[in-house]
Amino acid sequence: MRLSRYFLPVLKETPAEAQIVSHRLMLRAGMIRQSSAGIYSWLPLGYKVLQKLEQIVHEEQQRAGHIPLLMPTLQSADLWRESGRYDDYGEEMLRITDRHGRDMLYGPTNEELITDIFRSYVNSYKDLPLTLYHIQWKFRDERRPRFGVMRGREFLMKDGYNFDLTKEAALHAYNRHLVTYLRTFERMGLQAIPMRADSGPIGGDDTHEFLVLAETGESEVFYDSAVTDLSFGDRAIDYDDVVQCQSIMEEFTTKYARTDETHDEALFNEIPEDRRRSARGIEVGQIFYFGTKYSEAMGATVVNDQQEQVPVHMGSHGIGVSRLIGAIIEASHDDNGIIWPEGVTPFHCGIVNLRQGDEAADAACEALYEQLTNAGLDPLYDDRNERAGGKFATMDLIGLPWRITVGPRGLKNGVVELTSRKTGESVEMAPEAAVARII
Ligand code: ATP
Ligand code: MG
Ligand code: MG
Ligand code: MG
Repeated sequence: MRLSRYFLPVLKETPAEAQIVSHRLMLRAGMIRQSSAGIYSWLPLGYKVLQKLEQIVHEEQQRAGHIPLLMPTLQSADLWRESGRYDDYGEEMLRITDRHGRDMLYGPTNEELITDIFRSYVNSYKDLPLTLYHIQWKFRDERRPRFGVMRGREFLMKDGYNFDLTKEAALHAYNRHLVTYLRTFERMGLQAIPMRADSGPIGGDDTHEFLVLAETGESEVFYDSAVTDLSFGDRAIDYDDVVQCQSIMEEFTTKYARTDETHDEALFNEIPEDRRRSARGIEVGQIFYFGTKYSEAMGATVVNDQQEQVPVHMGSHGIGVSRLIGAIIEASHDDNGIIWPEGVTPFHCGIVNLRQGDEAADAACEALYEQLTNAGLDPLYDDRNERAGGKFATMDLIGLPWRITVGPRGLKNGVVELTSRKTGESVEMAPEAAVARII
C-alpha cells in the first residue's frame, strides 16, 4: 500500500475522552472512530488488524476440528424464553420489537440459537462429538462502555459450542479449547493466563478465564508468579488425544491463578510468599463446561447406543476478538506509539522515502516495495511529500515491526537503514539485505 493512496486519518492531538493508552493510540493511529457510546467504525488500519486476529482464531479453531458457521446478530426472543434467560439476562440485553410486534434482541451470546440449530438436525450419538463456532458481532448494553474497544457495547466475539454425549467427552472438549486458546493468544504475541473463574449467568461449574496482565485491566487477579514462566511454544498437538490435552490443561491450570470471584486466601497463602502476586488483568477469553443446562431446557437430546434419549453435554467458549486489539496495545507500546507483535501487524514493514522526488530514492523505494510484495509481504510505503520527522512519527505511532529508511545520502554508499520498532535499533545495509532480514 502506498500511503498517498491509503486512508490513514492519524490525529496529532491526544483525544481528551480516552482514559487509557490503547484507546488513545487506536484513536490517534486512525484505527477506530466512535459512532456512539461503545459503538465504533473500524477504519482501514483497525479493520486490517481485526481481520488478522480473526484469521488466527479461525486457523487455530479449525486446526482442532471445530467447524465455522455464521449465525445472525438479531435473534427471536422466543428461544430465550425457552431457556429462561429472557427475563434473567437483564438490562445488558438490547431488546427490539419488529413491525409485527414480535420481540427480538441483538444477541449478547448464542447458546440458545446454536442449541436450536443442533436439536433441529442432530438425533444420534453417532453424530457426536460436534463443535461449531462463529465470529460475529455481539451487543451488550454495558452500563459503562469505556476504554474504547475494551468495553464496547457492540463487539466482535468468537463463540464456540461443543456438543458431546458424556461429561467426560465434554471435558475433553473443554481441555481442547483451552489448548487452542493458549496457542491463539501466543500467536498474537500475548501472554494470557488461564485463571479459575466464576461462571456467572451462563451457569456451570468448570470455567477458566484467560487474562492478560495489565494495570488498566478491569479484573482483580491473584496468582503464583510461576504461572508467568509457562509458555506453550511450538508443540505438536493431537487434538483427539484426550491424555495430551488433559495434561496440558493441568500444566497450565494447576498453579494458583484466580480472579477475585473465586480467590481463596487460605490457598493463596500456601504459595511461597515471594511468588504471591495480586494484579489487574484484562479478560480476553473464557471457556465453560455447563453440562445439560441448555440441552435439558431446550430438548437437545440424542439417542445413545442403548436406544435411550439423553440430553447432550455442552460447553461454550468465547474470545473477545475486538477487545484483544486493546489488550495487545496495552501490553505492547511505548511513548511514541504502538509496537505490533509480528503475528498481528497490519503491514509487515514501512518504507520511508526521505526525499520524495529524488530519482535514486524513488527508484530504490519502488524496488524495495516490489521485492517485499513479491515475497508475499504487505509493506506500507510512505511516498508522501512530507518532512522526514513527520513520516517517522507516523511510522512509530502505527507501530509496524520494521522500517526501511531510504535517502539519497545512504544510497550513494549503497545502503538503506533498517530499524526495529521494538528495540529502536537501526542498522545500515544494502537494500537486498534489508529485504532478506524482514522476510
Ligand atoms: P466482562 O467480564 O469483561 O464483562 P464477560 O465475562 O461478560 O466479560 P463473556 O460472556 O465471557 O464476557 O464473553 C467472552 C469474551 O467476550 C470475554 O472474555 C471478553 O473478552 C469479550 N467481551 C465481553 N464483553 C465485552 C465488551 N463489552 N466489549 C468487548 N469485549 C467483550
Ligand atoms: Mg460482562
Ligand atoms: Mg467476565
Ligand atoms: Mg467472561
